Amino acid sequence: MPPLSFIEGFEKLRLLDAAIEQSHNAVLVTDADLEAGPRIVYVNAGFERMTGYSREEVLGQTPRILQGSRTSPTVLARLRTALGRGECFDGETINYRKDGSEYCVSWHISPVMAQDDEQRITHFVSVQRDVTEDRRRDEQLRLLSTALEVSADPVFITDSAGSITYVNAAFEEQTGYSRDEVKGQNPRILQSGRQNAVFYRELWETLGRGEVFRGEFVDRCRDGSLIHLEQSISPVMNAEGEVTHYVSVGKDVTDRVRMEEEIRRLAHTDWLTGLANRLSLGNTLESELERGRRYGRPLALIMFDVDHFKDFNDEYGHETGDEILKRLAGAIRENLREVDFLGRWGGEEFMVVVPETDGSRAEIMAEKLRKAVAAMKTSCPVPVTASFGVTEARRGDTQKSLARRVDEAMYQAKKAGRNCVVRL
Ligand code: GH3
Ligand code: MG
Ligand code: MG
Repeated sequence: MPPLSFIEGFEKLRLLDAAIEQSHNAVLVTDADLEAGPRIVYVNAGFERMTGYSREEVLGQTPRILQGSRTSPTVLARLRTALGRGECFDGETINYRKDGSEYCVSWHISPVMAQDDEQRITHFVSVQRDVTEDRRRDEQLRLLSTALEVSADPVFITDSAGSITYVNAAFEEQTGYSRDEVKGQNPRILQSGRQNAVFYRELWETLGRGEVFRGEFVDRCRDGSLIHLEQSISPVMNAEGEVTHYVSVGKDVTDRVRMEEEIRRLAHTDWLTGLANRLSLGNTLESELERGRRYGRPLALIMFDVDHFKDFNDEYGHETGDEILKRLAGAIRENLREVDFLGRWGGEEFMVVVPETDGSRAEIMAEKLRKAVAAMKTSCPVPVTASFGVTEARRGDTQKSLARRVDEAMYQAKKAGRNCVVRL
């Protein structure tokens, strides 16, 4: 390598001139006559491009030719004060091209001192940049982030590694987590355990293909409560097609899900007693029959019907009849195990599905229930009694055949004088 030699004199000037000419920024030099107003003594090609003025047109002119109605007087006043003091100035305002169109300019202006006198300013050098596009982008960003902020739907953004970089106000409100708490965290903190591995595998496979994933998430909030969200997660890619972020937009559907759960519950519940209804009893009987068959386990069924219930209604009124049914439901439930499934079959008929139990043990249970009913306190002076049928599942039984047999057993108990248990 040749020895390093510094560029001096004319060569240096020539190179600096070339550098300034080629600079993307606009460069403008004025004299320092602040009284009469500084005059332009030099502009580079960047200035010509930015303003549309040719060099010849602006030399000797004041930079005020670039100003107009939307040029900020405050910024200009600060500029004049700084230059008057011989200080550098950075500022931004609106200027006007030769054709009258506006652009947003950012300046850095510095005074140049005389070589013989460090106090005397001879010129001002102004390096200018057209930041119109930057400001337009800033403005658009500001609008978009305002839209996100006021959106009622929770939004969060993670980087490609899954760390949360942004959450909106709706996210904060719905999850109870502040943005400071979740920044840098993984969205895993919201996991409720309600989604399984298959769900997550599908999520990552979809995102991996660069596609939007849509699914229903159950998230756990800061206070432990659960919310249901219909969420879409989109990968965001850069110009090279690499994923830089994931944007997740949710819609809170907790109310809808709760309502669906409530409707489902109501569809399986008897409105008067709060017990399972006939539909639910049928489902349970079906699945218990199947389970008993598969594992070779016993299954028993108890059915009972209130004796002379019509007389209670006639004598004491329908409301008292209702009250008896409710009390009866409570009294029976108290005498059952957790696994026994009690429901209202219809009218004043009830059924108990008794898993892991054979007929003789179920008969003992039924006897206990019969006594509990007879001992039950109601607003009627006469005791309420019920007749019980018992049976156990046999090979080849269907839900229907089992129900028919237990009904027959109960019918025989009625015939045998009521308030008794018959097993078939
Ligand atoms: P048995 O001993 O033979 O069973 O006589 P019963 O009077 O109980 O039999 P029946 O089937 O003739 O009468 C049943 C009565 O139960 C008729 C009906 O009005 C009444 N009932 C059915 N559902 C309800 C209910 O939800 N509330 C009230 N209060 N009564 C009901
Ligand atoms: Mg009856
Ligand atoms: Mg009846």
